[in-house]
Amino acid sequence: MELKGKRVVITGSSRGIGAGIAKYMAAQGARVAVTYSSNPDSAEKVLAELEGDGHMLLKLDVTSSESVEKGFDEVFKKFDGLDALVNNAGITRDQLLMRMKDEDFDAVMATNLRGAYLCCKAVMRPMLKARSGSIVNVSSVVGQMGNPGQSNYSASKAGLEGLTRSIALEVASRGIRVNAVAPGFIVTDMTDALNEQQKEAIQGRIPLGRLGSVDDIAQSVSFLVSDMSLYITGQVLQVNGGLYM
Ligand code: NAP
Repeated sequence: MELKGKRVVITGSSRGIGAGIAKYMAAQGARVAVTYSSNPDSAEKVLAELEGDGHMLLKLDVTSSESVEKGFDEVFKKFDGLDALVNNAGITRDQLLMRMKDEDFDAVMATNLRGAYLCCKAVMRPMLKARSGSIVNVSSVVGQMGNPGQSNYSASKAGLEGLTRSIALEVASRGIRVNAVAPGFIVTDMTDALNEQQKEAIQGRIPLGRLGSVDDIAQSVSFLVSDMSLYITGQVLQVNGGLYM
């Protein structure tokens, strides 16, 4: 996957899928802005492990418009433009609807959906000026199939897919592509929270017979950022081992 010289911001790349995307893209020649919200040490470690030069580290809280504005200003200064944005930052606050606290619904929306909206807005002007760019939003299989205990999370990801298609329509004529990748169950801190019994139950429902790896997602996101997907926009790429078709 040729990403030589592509300047990419990956939100929430201090660990998990975001860190995996950062490492994979750097290995393909990209210049990466590794961003963290609360884990600077972990983000420093990711940065130190990246192949190649010209990467940067950035504190970026996607729930804060000030932080997003300031963060992207720094990126544009250092990178002198931007080729791609990966909206990966995401949280869960699982609970059955009847017991869900309103603040947990709002927190998930603020990070997973409003956060992506703010970051898309922050990169739009420079991308429009350059008449090129690729945005990839990291959704979830749960956005389409639903999941008990995740009404907030599922709604945020379904919303993210709608956001993807609408922005794709708005900017396609300017050479900017907007797509989403919807991972199934991937081995990260997020799924480590599940107990063995839950993990086995999930694995039993996956036709390809395993949970996904961070690299499975990193490769799909890289494809959508790369020039190998120049005729693809407004799409949601399902990367879930066949869990949901
Ligand atoms: P994770 O291991 O829990 O990592 C979450 C990342 O998001 C961290 O880097 C965290 O930064 C960052 N983050 C959290 N709140 C933030 C905020 N307000 N502003 C900026 N960054 C913030 O999660 P993951 O499993 O890698 O998931 C990454 C994405 O994939 C999420 O969008 C998730 O919904 C999606 N996804 C995951 C799975 C899965 O099975 N793991 C499946 C489907 C979809 P700090 O550590 O610095 O706080």
